[in-house]
Order: sequence, then C-alpha cells, then structure tokens
Amino acid sequence: MRVANVAGRLSIVVGDPDELRAVDVANASGGLFSSDPQAVYDRWDEFTAWAASLAAPAGEPFALSDLGSPVTWPRQIFAIGLNYREHADESGFERPDTEPPVFTKFASSITGPYATVDLPAGGHTDWEVELVAVLGRTASRVDEDQALSYLAGYTIGQDLSERKLQMAATPPQFSLGKSYPGFAPLGPWLVTLDEFADPDDLQLCCAVDGEELQTGRTSEMIFPVAALVAKLSAAATLLPGDIIFTGTPSGVGLGRTPQRWLAPGEVLESRIEGIGTMCQQLR
Ligand code: ZN
Repeated sequence: MRVANVAGRLSIVVGDPDELRAVDVANASGGLFSSDPQAVYDRWDEFTAWAASLAAPAGEPFALSDLGSPVTWPRQIFAIGLNYREHADESGFERPDTEPPVFTKFASSITGPYATVDLPAGGHTDWEVELVAVLGRTASRVDEDQALSYLAGYTIGQDLSERKLQMAATPPQFSLGKSYPGFAPLGPWLVTLDEFADPDDLQLCCAVDGEELQTGRTSEMIFPVAALVAKLSAAATLLPGDIIFTGTPSGVGLGRTPQRWLAPGEVLESRIEGIGTMCQQLR
C-alpha cells in the first residue's frame, strides 16, 4: 500500500505510474480516520486493517505537485551518519563498528517531494539520498528480529546538508547545518514493507541535472534498518510517526575531487527502487 499526503489530506494511492489516483481516507472511511496525514500513525494497525477491507476503490486523479510529505510533523527525527562504508571513507571519518553516530534534523526542515528548496546564500549545500523508515508503533527496547514489525513503512528522504555550518563547531554539529527550511524533503509517499520483495535490499540513486552522482543498495548498510530500530529503541522511546534517516551511500559532493555543491537552478532527483522518485528544484 502507498500512503500519501495529497493536498494536505491523508490518501491511499492506487493505479499505475502513468495513471495515479488518490483515495481520500477521511471521505472513504466516513470520518472514521482524520484527514491529517500525521494522525494516522497513532492508529496504524487499525488503519491498515481498515484499508485491507476496502474493495477496489476508484480514487481521483491528482498532480504530483499536489503531494506533500507523508510525514508532516513527527515528534522525533533520528538520523544516522556514516552508515555505508564507502561514504564513511569519503567523509574522512572512521567507519563505525559497534555504535552508529546519531543526530537529528529539526522537524521544521520537512518539505514535500516536489517542493522547491532555497539554498542558503554563501553555503556549501550537499545532497544525501536516504531510505527513511517511519514508525507505526511505539518502540522501546525492541529485539532486532522483531524490529521491522514496528515500522509503518519506508519513504525517500534527502538529508540536505550545509557543510560549512555542519563543520563549523568542534566536534562537528551535524543537526543544525541539516535543518534549514526545506532541507528534509520526504516522499513521494510511504510504502508498506509487504510491497517489497526484499525490504533490506533496495537500490537508491541521486542525480543532479540528470547526472547520476550517488548509487547504492540498502543491503550495503553497516547497521541495517532493524539494527537501527533496536539500537535507537534501547535508549529512546520511538513514537508512532517518528522517522529515521538511515544514512547515505557514497557519492556526496563533500567526498568529490574537486568538491561540488548544489547551485540555484539545478534539479535534484532522488530515487529508491520500489518507492519512486522525488524531485527538488533548487533556488
Ligand atoms: Zn545523512
């Protein structure tokens, strides 16, 4: 199932890529569920049971530009650094072995999958395509072998990063330089894990103006998604609707020779196998 935010309303996406249609959940459920895309995660099990009982809903056509983030206001955002070996190497850090480095992106940085993003003047803004896991249950001290059952699904995220501010303090302060307005595009929708042949092995790619700059597979993570949920929930209580940016593969601008940064007028495309594509116009 694909769950989306269409013009601010919780929707289920049906149909083929060239003929997508949206089923408005509040209307189709006769008001049983709110139209608020964020509220559904608190009732995720009830929602998926209801959705499974829907008989081939028709839905209404919509434009991709109507899509907002499938997660609008999570109570907590976790982000993982250096979770792919070659990305750790290109960043100049040691590869983590027992504990992944954790930071946050502040929730005000969330934007939609086709939103225009303003680049901070004078900054060095970099791209990081990432698989984002969305919680569908409260998770506290969960075992790794049960961890994926706590997820509502996966979506695509861009962990946009202004490297000057990120590296300005000692030790580096990842969170603030990654939290400018629009620095957390999410979408185009959430996909439930039953839709993937192998939810632990998805290709992810990132391109700027059509030039592919990152490509990798989520099977290359140092700490797989289930391990991340187990490790994070060993300390913090993860809440429904929280999200986890799970790290980026190699190919970011920081690790290039010469280094390369995003520029106004460029188009940033992010793709993950089995989920779809996001596209940011940069200004
Ligand atoms: Zn990242």
